[in-house]
Amino acid sequence: MKEIFPWKRTLQEEMIKMLKVKLHKSALFLSTVCVTCGTTYVVEKVEAILLEGDKRIGNVCKECIKMGSQEIPMILRQQSQRLREKAKTLEELSNRSIDCPPWDEYLQASGDKNLGSENACQEVKANPQMIMSRVFLIGEGIVPNEELEGLQNEHIKIFLTELDISQWPPEILHLKKYAEIEIDDRYLFRFDAGV
Ligand SMILES: [Zn+2]
Repeated sequence: MKEIFPWKRTLQEEMIKMLKVKLHKSALFLSTVCVTCGTTYVVEKVEAILLEGDKRIGNVCKECIKMGSQEIPMILRQQSQRLREKAKTLEELSNRSIDCPPWDEYLQASGDKNLGSENACQEVKANPQMIMSRVFLIGEGIVPNEELEGLQNEHIKIFLTELDISQWPPEILHLKKYAEIEIDDRYLFRFDAGV
């Protein structure tokens, strides 16, 4: 049987195969990874989600949105190539023997031999001076590692415990903008639950 509108069918198939980026208003600051380019970024005000029909594939960063529909497949190809190269490196590493210090040594180096992993979150809770939102900022990578490089443990401790920014030493004043980020309690609760 001859189809009357074969072009129409093709168009529908194309529509189904097409991926779509949808924008959602967001009141939360969330750390996420762009599925297109692989960058870790913080969702601010608008969350862009790549969808296949109703299926969520991942977030897309604003730099990729700026590049536009035409360029996104090319960015994905480049990222896919980078991951392939990374996978190759990891594969090579997996064939090597690795000398890793025992867990005990790690605990000793962290200054508390009795602190097991299951107690780590309770420890944080038991310490009233620890500001959970600051722990979250570092734990979730919202404060990028580059910002923490070169800081002494003492500085990081002040960031985690001192609410009054006027009391901060100049070494950590560049972290002020992160301390001002408002974080929804639900995310802190997730941290509290020790997940
Ligand atoms: Zn991106």
